[in-house]
This record gives sequence, structure tokens and C-alpha cells, in this order.
Amino acid sequence: MNDMLTARVVLLVILSATLLAETPAPPPGSPAATWLDPYRDPASRLIGEALSTSFAWERLALLGDTFGNRLSGSQGLEAAIDWAVAEMKKDGLENVHTEPVKVPHWVRGRESLEITLPHSMPLVMLGLGNSIGTPADGIEAEVVVVRNFEELEAVPNRIKGRIVLYNVPFTTYGETVQFRSSGPSRAASLGAVAALVRSVGPPGLRLPHTGSLRYADGSPQIPAAAITTEDADRLQRMQDRGTRVRLRLKMDAHFLPDADSFNVVGELRGRERPAEVVVIGGHIDSWDVGTGSTDDGGGCVVTWEALRMMKKLNLRPRRTVRVVLWTNEENGTRGALAYRDRYKEQLKDHVMMLESDSGVFRPTGFGFSGSEAARAKVTEIASLLRGIQADRISASGEGADIGPSVQAANIPAMSLDVDGNYFLLHHTQADTVDKIDPADMSRAAAAIAVIAHVIAEMPDRLN
Ligand SMILES: [Zn+2]
Repeated sequence: MNDMLTARVVLLVILSATLLAETPAPPPGSPAATWLDPYRDPASRLIGEALSTSFAWERLALLGDTFGNRLSGSQGLEAAIDWAVAEMKKDGLENVHTEPVKVPHWVRGRESLEITLPHSMPLVMLGLGNSIGTPADGIEAEVVVVRNFEELEAVPNRIKGRIVLYNVPFTTYGETVQFRSSGPSRAASLGAVAALVRSVGPPGLRLPHTGSLRYADGSPQIPAAAITTEDADRLQRMQDRGTRVRLRLKMDAHFLPDADSFNVVGELRGRERPAEVVVIGGHIDSWDVGTGSTDDGGGCVVTWEALRMMKKLNLRPRRTVRVVLWTNEENGTRGALAYRDRYKEQLKDHVMMLESDSGVFRPTGFGFSGSEAARAKVTEIASLLRGIQADRISASGEGADIGPSVQAANIPAMSLDVDGNYFLLHHTQADTVDKIDPADMSRAAAAIAVIAHVIAEMPDRLN
């Protein structure tokens, strides 16, 4: 073979490999080959539509730029909800409406933290959601740094009258978040006067991460705040050198009476079995920092985009596909509970529920929870996403907003899996749209659209 021919063969091999990647064909004779055939064309139309535009990213940028962050009880949240309803109607979605939810109304107010001894200097902080405030002149006390609950409880006398700092490096969210959520009450039960937590996230650029705490019944309530990984390490070093450090914490945090909010719903009604529903969505509320673009504006817009594209391409499936933008995920999950209660009688007709709440970075596929037969089916459907490398089905599909309904009626559940720096940005001032790549968002919209469309369209119900 001469060099010229070799080059041509290599080129042909590359070309056909690329084509195969874009139009995934299963091995001949495999059952997936036949049953998936009717979905190949709609799937490539949805993928083509998504990849041809940055509409989803532009919509997410508009949401954050216009309304900012969206904590429950804020005007920003309610204005964003009104906007979403109007935009869904413009998109031509059907049955667009809101569903009322009473939400907690926590207000951060002014807050500060400073070292008063050995030398006075301010520290960066964010109060934890649901925390009580301090007296107007603050709480001043010596700090005790602990690395875990065992160290906290080892010498209980050391805790009384002190400010406790949990200096626990981030491993996974599930493992580390307990120090934020239940740490304040555990310190209070030993007599601590305030609690600080090392932010639940990897080291970044000296950014604190907020998030909610949960006071235990029967323990005294003390104010609590997050500090940066850098300052947690610094206070640890000072303690390890034997330096006594005093801090003053000031927080105005308080609750107002519950506020009115809403879940937003839009649909594409099923052409044959409209009562059977595939639900996709994210949560429209956010913490009161940044613009809530990865958590979870992106999840809202990308699931909504999946439905918008089906409508635009006139792909009306056999069953109804419903997008839900839940309210109050961050500090109450009242939207999720209201959805479960409102649709109690219809949950048995929920064929699948999918949530996107891990950021919209490069999509890799989906988590899935359900029967083994359904998992096998979903894995075959996901092969339609091989061309955009989003075909991996992982162990569990979950989300705080779909959770209550999924558990109430044993509904197959999915979540968008992504590869990105979610926990670096999570609940910080840096959660803004510029961290998200428009092409990743398009791929995520494509992946969700294909999965939702096929599950809503295939003759046999997923179960
Ligand atoms: Zn979230």
C-alpha cells in the first residue's frame, strides 16, 4: 500500500467512525436495532436542533441578568416565576400555569465576622440559611476548632461558651454537608454560643458557601455561618500553635411570615395517552448569592428547552411531557411536597420523573433508579446519545424535587449527570452564567429531549 492510499484509508476510517458516532447503530441482530429504529430520526432532529443554537444559554443569561438570585420570599423569585410563565406561553407550551406554595421567608440581613484577638481583622463569611441572628452588638467568644464530631465531643468542657469551628475538608457533598446541617445543634447541645463551618466545597478563591442548617428539636438554637477553606485552615494553624483566638460574629438573620410562591408548569399534551405523564424539571429558587445559574437556573432552562424543541419540531409524543420549575428547593422543599400532594391521585400515571440539579456542565448521561427491566430499556434509549457522548446510565437517579413524588408512588427516576466543577460554585457569589459553556447546555438539552421524547412515545410504558 503506498503512502497516498494509506492516508486515504485512514481518512475513510476516521470519517466512518465519526459517522457511526453520530448515527449510533447497534450490532446487527440486536433487539435494540429494531425497536429503536422509529426513534432515530426524531432523536437526530432534536440533537441537531439543540446543537444549532445557543438559545438555552441566552435564556439562562437573561434570567440571571434580569432577576438576579431568587431566594424564597424574594421579589426576584416571584418576578422570575411570572417571566417563566409568560415565556412558556410564547413558546407555545400547553396548560401553562402556576400552582401555589407557601414558602418560608428567611432574610439574611447584614452580617460580619472578625478576629478581635490577637489582632483585629475581618473574615469573609456567609450566614447559613435558616440561622437565627445574634444580638445587635454580636457574639464575641474564643474559637475552638474541631476536625469532626468525635473531637467536638471528646472534651465537652472545652465547648461551653465558645464559638465552634468545624474544619472538615470537602470529600463528597453527602459526607461533608452534615457538619453544616446538624453541626450547629450538636455544638449548641454542649454549650457553644455560635457555630462556624468550613465551606462545603473544594478550596476555591476564598469564597464562602452558604446553605441551610437544620436545628434539632430540643437543642438550643445558636447562630451559624460558613467561612472559607483558607480561613478555616488559618484558624486551625493558629490553634495548633497554641494561639488563643477570639472572634466576633454579627448576624441580622431572621424569619418573616411564610410567603406566597408557585411551582411553574408547562406541557406538551400527549396525543394518545395524555393522562400518562413524563415529568422533567429543575428548581427556580436559589440562594441569595450569585445568580443561581448553575443551582439551578440551568436545570430549569435546559429541561424547559427540551420541551420547547419538541414543540418547535412538532414532535408530539403519545404521552404528555410536563416541565415543572419547583419553588423553594433550597430551604424547605415545599414546592416538591406541594407537587406530591396536589398530584396524589395522578402519581400512578407518572411514567418517569427527571430532575436536573447538578449544574449544566458537559453531560455524560443520566442516573437512573427503577426496575432492572426499565434500566435495560433506558440504557438502550441512551445509545441514541452516543454521538454527543451522553449515553452513560449510572447507578441512581434522584433529586430533592422529584424525591417526594418518586417515593410516594415508586416512579422511575432520572437525573442529568454532568462533568463539571459544580461544588466549587455551589451556593456562592460565583454561581453566575459565565461558568457555563453554551455548547454543554445545548448537549444537555438534546440529551434530556431525546430521553423524555422516547419514554413518552414508546408503545409500552416504562416499568
Ligand atoms: Zn439545587
